[in-house]
Order: sequence, then C-alpha cells, then structure tokens
Amino acid sequence: MTKKIKISVFLLIIIIIIAAAGVYAFNQTQNSGKYRIISFDAERAYNDVDILTSIGPRLSGTDGEYQGAVYIKNQFEEAGLHNAHMENFETLLYEVNFASVSMIQYLPLGNIPNPMENPIEYEHTVDFVVQGYSGSYEWSGYSDDLEMVEIEDDSNDGQWQDAQDKAAIISQEAGWASNTELFFKASDFGVSALILHRENNDEELGHIPISKSTGLPSDKSSYPDIPFFMVSEDMGDDMKEGMRSQMKLRLDFDVTVEKRDTWVVIGDVRGSEKPEKYVMLGGHHDTVYNGPGAVDNTAGTVTVIELARQLARTNPKRSIRLATWGGEEEGLWGSRKYFAAHEEDVLKNCMFYLNFDMNNVDLERGNALPILVSDNSSIKHMKAISRQLLSKEPELDKYNIDIRFYNLLTIGSDHIIFLRNNIQVGSAFGDGSWEYHTYLDTIDHVNAESLSVSGRIFGSYALYIADK
Ligand SMILES: [Zn+2]
Repeated sequence: MTKKIKISVFLLIIIIIIAAAGVYAFNQTQNSGKYRIISFDAERAYNDVDILTSIGPRLSGTDGEYQGAVYIKNQFEEAGLHNAHMENFETLLYEVNFASVSMIQYLPLGNIPNPMENPIEYEHTVDFVVQGYSGSYEWSGYSDDLEMVEIEDDSNDGQWQDAQDKAAIISQEAGWASNTELFFKASDFGVSALILHRENNDEELGHIPISKSTGLPSDKSSYPDIPFFMVSEDMGDDMKEGMRSQMKLRLDFDVTVEKRDTWVVIGDVRGSEKPEKYVMLGGHHDTVYNGPGAVDNTAGTVTVIELARQLARTNPKRSIRLATWGGEEEGLWGSRKYFAAHEEDVLKNCMFYLNFDMNNVDLERGNALPILVSDNSSIKHMKAISRQLLSKEPELDKYNIDIRFYNLLTIGSDHIIFLRNNIQVGSAFGDGSWEYHTYLDTIDHVNAESLSVSGRIFGSYALYIADK
C-alpha cells in the first residue's frame, strides 16, 4: 500500500465518522427538537373532569363554584405551585332557586280554569331554561295566570304594546335582537313574562333550550324584574297552540339577583432568574346553572390543572402563572376584576396570556382544533411545537390542528381583557360541542386526549417564552 492510499483511506474513515456524527446530530434535533415539549396525563385530566362535574353546575356565586375553586386550589397546591390561592371579587350575579312553568285550560266564559282539565307541566332545564338575571314571579292565585301572545316582529312596537301584562313569545331567529335588548324592550312595554322560542337551532338535539346571560355591567335596580326564559321547539309550539285555545300560562319563578363573590384561582411556577415576569395560562371554571358544563368549561379548567402539574416540574427562567376564572358566563367578571385589581403588575410583567375555552374535540362529530392567536410572531413557534409533538406522537395527527391569526376581540372569553390592554394572547377551542349551555353538557362527550393537544402546545409555548 502506498503512502498516498493510506492517507486516502485514513481521510475516508474520517469523512465517514464526521458524516455519521452529522446524521446522528440531525436525528437528535429531529427527535428532541428545539422546544421542550411538556407531557400531559390525559387520564388524570379526565378524572378531574369527573370530580368537578360531579359537584354539579358551578354557576358563579353559588356554593358549586366555591367547591370547584377549592378543588382547583388544592390541585395547584399539590402540584407544588408557589403561592396557590383564591381571590374573591364581588359581582352582581344571579341564582335560580326554582322555576316552574305549566299551561292551564280556561273555560271559554267566566275566566276561570276548566276543573276537568289537568295542567300541562313542563320540565325545568329540559323543556325550558331561565335566562341570566331573569326576574322572579310569585304565583299566588288564578289572577296571576298569564295570557300568551306571540311577537312575530320584534321591531314592531305595536306588537309589543299588545303584549302588555301578558306573556310574550318570540321566535329566536338569526339576526334578531340580543337577549339584553329583548329583555329591556319587554320591560319598557310592561310585558309580564318574556319567552324565547328555540327554533332553527341545534337540530341534532331536538332544539332544546340553552341558558344565556344578559351582558350588563350594572346594579340590580337596572335589571327588569320579569321572568325571562327559553323554551324548546316542542314546548314553544305547544304554547302557541295553547294561546289559540283558551290556555293560560302559570309561572312561579324564584331567582336571586344580588352582589356575591365569584372566585379566581391563581398559582405560580416560580422563575429562577426573573420571577416577577410571567406567562399566564388560564380558563374559566364557572358553568351555566342548568348543567355540569363538562365541555364549557370543565375541559379548559382541567387542562390548566394538568399543566400546573407538568409545569411545576420545570425550572423556567421567568414565572408561569396558572389561573382559573369565575364569572365568565355572566360577563367575563373574574378576569376583568382580577385585571383591575392587579393592573400595574399585569401590564408590566405579563408577557403573554394563553386561554382554554371548550378545547374539547368530539371526534365523532369533527376534528377541528382551532388555536387562535392575536399576533403573527407566535404562530411559527406554535406550529414548530405542534410539528415536534406530532413527530413524537404521530397518532395525534387525527386532529386538524389549525394555528392561525384571528381577531380574538370578537370571541367572548377571558383573553379579551388582556388583548384590550395590548398583551398578546392565544385561545384554544374545540369541535362538536352541540350540548353547549344545555343540561346535556356532561362528561360523556369529553375526550381528554384532545385536551392534551392544545394543552401541550400552549404549555410548551409558555415554557419557551418563560425560558427565552
Ligand atoms: Zn366558556
């Protein structure tokens, strides 16, 4: 062997070694990647859904909300978060103590009920649902039974006039006035009860009624004291028929509207270098009154709880703050009031807010997993995180992870207060939640694996910002 060949062989071996090292390093970055992808225990998150939904509805200002908030705080503590605590904020809230609705057949003459006919009873939360800040109505005798009238055009004042001292039924159709506008119009025209007829909505579930609030940042005296509820398509059809055949409506409503405490739960993963700076992750823990709110928003709440457990084991340079909010359904009160109480700190130190609201995907109905952000600079990181996650766990590819810019001021959830104050935000949503705001929003439709996807993307992004 000549010396030249020896050197060539030697060089070739060196080249092979370098190339192999290069391929190895490349594979390493492919596998581990640029971002730290956090874990997520979906089974444990599902168990949290089970525990929280078994409390029942967690309407803001009720004992249910308080119990839920205490459970969340305990999980934050057990996870090892720094300064896990609850903050209370006094807010005008409501509670439905009871509500009953029936129809009574009257005799054609004499204005008395027909003693031969039994009243038709309707089932609370199934056939009808009280709307937020509804007034009360105490039934004490026949004279309180109400005549019914239909308002076909809510912009026609003549029809409202005809509804004075009666129960007015309005079909809920697209493009019509909001709950708040209708409520006040009914009050202005001396209507005795306001009823929304659920039509052309939620065909899948048989047009069952949903609970909606009226968004009014005001005191109790400014709310009309008239019963306000929504009825299913069937019940509304029944009422319209009853209206034409001497039937009257019998109502008994007891709704408390008063100032009460709603809760915000907070805990920190403390940063090692600049602990005063933080990224925030949150979701609302309150629900509507007429169901356990498994998807809206126990889903987001348990995502935050599981992220607390995962992130507590990281050691970021800046802090990561975890929050769950009360008062969301009545007007984003928890996040608004938390912001007002800590404004200076939030404006100075909060670097990003990431929100979870109904981030559950029901794969039998759809696979969209929208992750919406307010600024373009975070998109490339989140997309890279998502790619890295999928390369580790290709089975998550069944979700259509859709990370994009969106004007989040147009979607009512707790990210709004941050965005209005020029803090960049992201908000994770889901797909197929037909049971929204009904008694059927139960654990049956929760897919905890889907929570892990948005949870890990936002959780890993929060860690990335905190560590930068
Ligand atoms: Zn919600």
